[in-house]
Amino acid sequence: MQFIETRGNDGKRASHVNFSDAILNPSASFGGLYVPESLPDMGIEFLADAINSDYKTLAFELLKKFEIDIEDALLWEALNCYDSFDDANNPAPVKSIEEDCFVTELYHGPTRAFKDMALQPFGVILSALAAQRGEEYLIMAATSGDTGPATLETFKNRPNIRVACLYPDGGTSDVQRLQMVTEDAANLKVIGVKGNFDDTQHALKTLLSSETFKAELQAKGIKLSAANSVNFGRIIFQIIYHLYGYLELVRRDDIALGEKVYLIVPSGNFGNALGAYYAKKAGLPVEKILIASNTNNILTDLINKGEYDIRDRALVLTRSPAMDILKSSNVERVLFDKFGSERTREMMQDLEEKHLYRLSAEELASLREDFDAIDSSDAEGLAFMADYADKGYIMDPHTATCIKAYRELRSEPLPAILCSTAEWTKFSMSVAEALQIEAESDLEALEKISQETGLKIPPMIKALFSKRVIHDKVVEKEKIKEEMLSFL
Ligand SMILES: *Cc1c(COP(=O)(O)O)cnc(C)c1O
Repeated sequence: MQFIETRGNDGKRASHVNFSDAILNPSASFGGLYVPESLPDMGIEFLADAINSDYKTLAFELLKKFEIDIEDALLWEALNCYDSFDDANNPAPVKSIEEDCFVTELYHGPTRAFKDMALQPFGVILSALAAQRGEEYLIMAATSGDTGPATLETFKNRPNIRVACLYPDGGTSDVQRLQMVTEDAANLKVIGVKGNFDDTQHALKTLLSSETFKAELQAKGIKLSAANSVNFGRIIFQIIYHLYGYLELVRRDDIALGEKVYLIVPSGNFGNALGAYYAKKAGLPVEKILIASNTNNILTDLINKGEYDIRDRALVLTRSPAMDILKSSNVERVLFDKFGSERTREMMQDLEEKHLYRLSAEELASLREDFDAIDSSDAEGLAFMADYADKGYIMDPHTATCIKAYRELRSEPLPAILCSTAEWTKFSMSVAEALQIEAESDLEALEKISQETGLKIPPMIKALFSKRVIHDKVVEKEKIKEEMLSFL
């Protein structure tokens, strides 16, 4: 399988690359992204064959279907990371919260957010490829709290990869900050930035486009890669659990093989939703993918009105910070899939220059064949969390955005599978508020919620509060480059 570029080819790079090249060097011509040239067929026949497969076997079969240039032994080594999840035989358990509503819990990995589902195996593969080629890579991440911990965790002590992670000081939960600043490995650097997530991301972009920084890296023989969901190496692992959740329901006789379902995805950068889209396109029986957003409802506008307009929008900080995004990167891959590279390039250029692009009526109709969308406020989220807590199910504020989609967007009486993207332990202050528990800190919230609900605090979260802080640097934006160079 070859990979091509969403904005067409500039004549300087190869127009078709292998998977390994696409993930080591994820930036494509004209600022575009790599996408598979075609999708394998993973329809009813594939699903029927996989009906008794465990998660890793299903994942292996799916990866083989993509015919990527990674040896079987390395694929298995990567997939064995799921053995360290809470239940090695079932890394993504599916729970029922209503007769026709099911939750795939994607947070049972080491950092308690769905990022682990893809970053864990991705880290093994990227590091092995870099080592095979004898190349050194630097991965830089700006995080609002989930990508950072998951990226550090997967690459710690891995050869040929260094990670530098920037987070907004005061902009994450205590748990998220501790997950980063207590990571102890020589190849990791964590820097707190004085400012909000926007400032942090901006500082990273400035650094990445700085010629002197690039020259310094080159002089040291270090190349840049990326571990966010612009990297297709993450997306491929985010297709698997959509199939797995569906097959779990078939195994339990909740649905019949071939019966359609709704997939509900709480979305920010649209990586998880893109995985769902590829799954649907490859043949998973999905009626529609329902996109849940918070107050930063740019995706709702796109899917309902055909308009991506960020001219007068300012980012709003919400209780679901991993979805506080205005430029949602992976939408581009859907646009490319539907409208081709020329049109995608035009729309992305409009977004950069005019902060706006519009779909034609036909284009919008095409998008709506696969997607519908809705957003909910923090207040609504808290109410949904309280409602399900009463029924005995605790969910985090990101997952809670899915409830409105479940209640209001299903135009057919079909079952829904929603993606739960974080454990309650990562956002315990919000969960406490929903449960009307008073708490001054994450630790207090965790303990009180645990007492009240009987839910256990997992050991890796508990341990954070007594671990030594390794990375205590919090710097002004202007000082980031200096910090970085001293690390390299
Ligand atoms: C990253 C993240 C999301 C958003 O996922 P995308 O793939 O960026 O759309 C949602 N919820 C949580 C908890 C996350 O960490």
